Amino acid sequence: MSQTLQAVRGMNDVLPEEAAFWELFEDTVRSWLKSYGYRPIRMPIVEPTPLFKRAIGEVTDIVEKEMYSFVDGLNGEALTLRPEGTAGCVRAVIEHNLAARQTQRLYYIGQMFRHERPQKGRYRQFHQVGVESFGIAGPDIDAEMILMGARLWNDLGLDGISLQINSLGQPAERAQHRAALIAYLEQHVDMLDEEAKRRLYTNPLRILDTKNPALQDICAAAPKLIDYLGTDSLAHFAGVQQILRDAGVHFTINPRLVRGLDYYNLTVFEWVTDKLGAQGTVCAGGRYDGLVEQLGGKPTPACGFAMGVERLIALIKDSGGEPAAPVPDVYVVHQGEAAARLAFRVAEGLRDQGIDVLLHCGGGSFKSQMKKADGSGAAFAVIIGDDEASTGEAQLKALRAEGVEQRKLKVDALAEAIIDYMIDSDEEE
Ligand code: ATP
Ligand code: MG
Repeated sequence: MSQTLQAVRGMNDVLPEEAAFWELFEDTVRSWLKSYGYRPIRMPIVEPTPLFKRAIGEVTDIVEKEMYSFVDGLNGEALTLRPEGTAGCVRAVIEHNLAARQTQRLYYIGQMFRHERPQKGRYRQFHQVGVESFGIAGPDIDAEMILMGARLWNDLGLDGISLQINSLGQPAERAQHRAALIAYLEQHVDMLDEEAKRRLYTNPLRILDTKNPALQDICAAAPKLIDYLGTDSLAHFAGVQQILRDAGVHFTINPRLVRGLDYYNLTVFEWVTDKLGAQGTVCAGGRYDGLVEQLGGKPTPACGFAMGVERLIALIKDSGGEPAAPVPDVYVVHQGEAAARLAFRVAEGLRDQGIDVLLHCGGGSFKSQMKKADGSGAAFAVIIGDDEASTGEAQLKALRAEGVEQRKLKVDALAEAIIDYMIDSDEEE
């Protein structure tokens, strides 16, 4: 007997019941993005491995231990399943010269892959909505991106998602802070864990992003990057805060918010819920002015964020949000060869008129088909037997309304009768 196959650990099927929540979420997200002028872009799921090493940084969790990298056995190319979308989006923007003459507001929705320990809210294949802007340097776009989050939580009916912001300054300011941070951490080197020791000289800022509870006190007392920011960086940060205050969006400044990717500068932010345990960050992002140039493009200011779709859907479900189950308007029941042929024609004709139709497939008695029609939730059954087929007619039966007689109609008159009825019942509501 052959062994049954299962999905890869940490990579989940989304079954129809659950997928209805995904569609509700995506519909809401697309119209929200449209209302802010964002346009879709679609990049490949596989990119050259060096792209991620250069963009995200060699000494980061993602590049050191989470990437699905492989060598294409056919041509020896080093490839990686994308762990995040910004690198690929920037590559595409440079490759197609999108930001040369105009600003761009772009978004994508799709799978990302990271080899992490699967747990609630953390998977090996997960989905992000990624939102990126190119060519806008001021604090206005940072603030707008943050405000967008507040609106989306509202649109999705979610509350209790709080905002943390910080500024990472510019590279020169970070270099000064880095020296101070290394000096401080050297004094406490005995208390650092292996990972922190390894990163002490390669990427000390990352140590502050640790999830190890034993290091929390040391990190809390470490020199703060914000104390090393110059006038321009502070003004940018103040500009962001001003817009948030004007909009009445509450935030906390978290000086230890450093983000797990190297490409950020100035504003960084995270939206966090306390309802998902340790996996509480549902949306995170910031400014990355150096990345386009770092990947070979012309210097282009840029800013973006990504949302974890699985985490947001878990929140939507917890909050009792229900997608409306899709219900056909009409279920077509038929028996006999001529009736089957007419049924196809009728179903397609009704769809031409914008009516949602479930055509019975798979045969069975009228009685069992009528049961299925009832169970489908359809407002009407259209019933075609050989008698009807021979005269080009069908029975129209209301399944959900009292006092509406079953009637026999010419098939060409069905759509109008159904639409009239639907308009009437809309008016009654
Ligand atoms: P975390 O600190 O939870 O590992 P991160 O900083 O690695 O998150 P980002 O790279 O900023 O995450 O990705 C943006 C968002 O994508 C996260 O805030 C989260 O909602 C989601 N996300 C990241 N990794 C995963 C994962 N393995 N499974 C599910 N969602 C994820
Ligand atoms: Mg992570």
